[in-house]
Amino acid sequence: MPKAILLSNRSDFELSSYFFSFVSVLLLFFFGLLRDVISGCILMVLSEVPLTLPLLVHLDLWVIYCKKFLPPIIQNNYGKWKYHENPRPGVLLHVSESGDKLWSVRAASPRLIATDTIRWYAEMAKKYAGGYLRFTSRNNVEFLVTEEKNIDPLIDELTKQGYPVGGTGNAISNIVHTQGWVHCHSAATDASGIVKCVMDDLTPYFTSMKLPGKLRIALACCLNMCGAVHCSDIAILGIHRHAPSTKHDQVKKICEIPSVVSACPTAAIRPATVDDNQSVEVLEENCMYCANCYTVCPAMPLNDPETDGVSIWVGGKVSNARTEPRFSKLAIPFLPNNPPRWPEVTETVRKLVEIWAAGARKYERMGDWIERIGWPRFFKLAGIEFQKQHIDDFKHAGLTFKRSTHLRFDKE
Ligand code: SF4
Ligand code: SF4
Repeated sequence: MPKAILLSNRSDFELSSYFFSFVSVLLLFFFGLLRDVISGCILMVLSEVPLTLPLLVHLDLWVIYCKKFLPPIIQNNYGKWKYHENPRPGVLLHVSESGDKLWSVRAASPRLIATDTIRWYAEMAKKYAGGYLRFTSRNNVEFLVTEEKNIDPLIDELTKQGYPVGGTGNAISNIVHTQGWVHCHSAATDASGIVKCVMDDLTPYFTSMKLPGKLRIALACCLNMCGAVHCSDIAILGIHRHAPSTKHDQVKKICEIPSVVSACPTAAIRPATVDDNQSVEVLEENCMYCANCYTVCPAMPLNDPETDGVSIWVGGKVSNARTEPRFSKLAIPFLPNNPPRWPEVTETVRKLVEIWAAGARKYERMGDWIERIGWPRFFKLAGIEFQKQHIDDFKHAGLTFKRSTHLRFDKE
C-alpha cells in the first residue's frame, strides 16, 4: 500500500503525539544549549576569582578563555597579521599590520619528556621569549621571540643541549607518534624508539630546507592509528599478523562475552563453548588484527614478538594546497621489529625520502610526485615487489577504488 495512504490512516492522536515529541526534542535541545552556555559563562567568571580556580580544576569544571594565555604581542595583533616568512631553517617570522614582529624558533623535542626537560624549556622561554612557548601538533617546541637579538643565543643554547632547530618550510618536521611499548597494550611496535632512530638518521633534512617540499612522517604502533599515519607523506605503522590467541579458561572469568563480541569491528568474534568453557571463537579470515578485542578482554592477547612488525605507507597529506588531501597507501607490507636501532626501518625511510627528493618538482609532496610518475614506476624506484597485501580487499574497498576511466600507459 502506498505510504501516503498509510499516513492518512493514522489517527489525529498519533500525529499530534509525533508533533509534541518533535517540539519537546527541540525545546530540550535549546534549553540544554542555553544551560551549557550560561554555566560556561559562570565558570569562566568564577575562574577569574582568586582561589576558586584550583577547586574548579580539581572538579574538572574549569573553563578559561584561551586568549588570556596568548603572548601580549599576539593578543595585540589578533587578526591583524599581514604576512609571514621563513628567514632560516627553524625560524618563522610573522609581521603585523602595526609593524610588530614575532619570531617563532622551532626545535625538535621528544614526545615523551621528563619534568626536568619541561623546566629547562620554561627557563629558556623566560630568558629569551618573555616566558612564552608552545608545542606544535608534531611535538616540536616553539619559542615565541619578540626581540631579534635573542634568536641566535636561543638557538645556540638549544643546539648545545641537543635539541636541533629546524622543521620549517621545505623540511621534515618532527615525527608525530603514538605511545608504543611504553604505554599501550595493543602496540605491535615501539613508537619513541623507532622515531628516535629515524630522526637521528634524517636530522640533516630537519635542520635544512633543501628538500623539494614539506615532508611529514608519522608513526602509529598499531592499526588503530592514534597517530596521523593515514594522512602523512611517509607513515610507519606497527602491525600484528595473526588473530588473537584466546585463553578459553579465562574468558568467562575476566571478560564480558557480549562486550567482546560487539567490540570487533569486522564481526569476527562469536560466542562458543570450547573444552567446556564458555568462551568465544575468532574467524581468522575476518580478523584484521586490530586488537580491539584485547582492549576489552585481556584473555585475548595479540602481541607476538616473533610475528609483529612494521609496515610503511606513503603519499598521504592533510594539506589542500595545490592538490586535494589524500590517504596514505601501503608501500611495504612488513619490516621486522629490530630494536634498539631498527636498521631496516631507518634505511627504508631514508631511501624513500631520497628517491622523492631526487625526483620531485619544487613543492611537490610525496603523494603528488607518485601520482605524477605512476605507482609502478615508484615501486620500481623504491625496489618494492608487488605483493598480495597491496590488493585492497577490505569489504568496503569499492568506495576507495579509483573509478575514473582514464588510463595511463607507462613507457617502460
Ligand atoms: Fe595503542 Fe594502537 Fe594507539 Fe599505538 S596506535 S597507542 S598501540 S591504540
Ligand atoms: Fe576482531 Fe580486531 Fe579482535 Fe580481530 S583483532 S577479532 S578484528 S577485534
